[in-house]
Amino acid sequence: MQTIEQPIAPREDKLFDTTIHRRQTRAVKVGSVTIGGNNPVVVQSMINEDTLDIDGSVAGIRRLHEIGCEIVRVTVPSMAHARALAEIKQKLADTYQPVPLVADVHHNGMKIALEVAKHVDKVRINPGLYVFEKPKGDRTEYSQTEFEEIGAKIKETLEPLVISLRDQGKAMRIGVNHGSLAERMLFTYGDTPEGMVESALEFIRICESLDFKNLIISLKASRVPVMLSAYRLMVKKMDELGMSYPLHLGVTEAGDGEYGRIKSTAGIGTLLAEGIGDTIRVSLTEAPEKEIPVCYSILQALGLRKTMVEYVACPSCGRTLFNLEEVLHKVREATKHLTGLDIAVMGCIVNGPGEMADADYGYVGRQPGFISLYRGREEIRKVPEAEGVEQLIQLIKDDGKWVDP
Ligand code: SF4
Repeated sequence: MQTIEQPIAPREDKLFDTTIHRRQTRAVKVGSVTIGGNNPVVVQSMINEDTLDIDGSVAGIRRLHEIGCEIVRVTVPSMAHARALAEIKQKLADTYQPVPLVADVHHNGMKIALEVAKHVDKVRINPGLYVFEKPKGDRTEYSQTEFEEIGAKIKETLEPLVISLRDQGKAMRIGVNHGSLAERMLFTYGDTPEGMVESALEFIRICESLDFKNLIISLKASRVPVMLSAYRLMVKKMDELGMSYPLHLGVTEAGDGEYGRIKSTAGIGTLLAEGIGDTIRVSLTEAPEKEIPVCYSILQALGLRKTMVEYVACPSCGRTLFNLEEVLHKVREATKHLTGLDIAVMGCIVNGPGEMADADYGYVGRQPGFISLYRGREEIRKVPEAEGVEQLIQLIKDDGKWVDP
């Protein structure tokens, strides 16, 4: 997939500024992809296949990668799954190409984590699953000593994995989920964004104490306002502490269909617009391939990445001189492979040319039966409506901007 990257401007607070100023973060390598720094926002997803199904997993990873998913996540619930990743990685290299891989691991599987860390480029841990305290039904709080003792136990458990990743130059995602905060965080900070942030910070400090900084942080929640607050608070805390770890954005359990997409966009898009976020995953209860176009649409709409043609079209009204929906569909079908171009389809000459938002080309209703083709703001030719799409293609060809699909 062809991608055109937008330049990232330096951070400046200007009221009339139309550029998104991304938060400056440290660059963290995940295989051949780099998250953070001045790199474009990275798109990721997760396969549904059982990792023990080697051929199925290779096919699933490849399918996602071919449509633009840059990092693919897999689950490793057992040692056999961890070992299977060695084969998956080899098969990808032999039959396709190396794909940056991430594995999800759990605290009670440190041996599994150490095995899988040999085969993947990044390991994701969920701090909420590092629970060592015995459940006490009547507990209402943790003393400072208890809190610290458990912290020390977490460090001891995590240390071999951190050292392994550090020594191999690989990465770790500290992935906090609102729905699975450890009890000791819940009792101390409440079921709040603050609890999520403190949970992440505890793990960051452990990693830093071992001189490991290849970290990416996520603070997902299924409620958008909670997720927004957690990421904003994390940024504030990191700024205060002089940390600049990149952030992985996502809304968990967003569901499916239109609402799942809107909910993900509300969370991810809002933060990206504020300059927050270095990699994204849209989690839909649908085939993972369905997530990738949503990621790209969010990034394109914000001008952060350009992976498709940007279409500008008026909503149509009483002045519209042709079937706008039908023409937009025809124009899109004919030109959708011309990544990098902005094309406008406007219903009338009264407001159309002025509202084309600086599109490269315009298709504008001129008078009944006729349309006008524009290059930028300049009217180039008036043609019968029946020849409109064909003539638009010809104009793009004349300008040397056409490529065959
Ligand atoms: S561009 Fe013309 S046709 Fe389209 S909505 Fe505006 S006034 Fe109506």
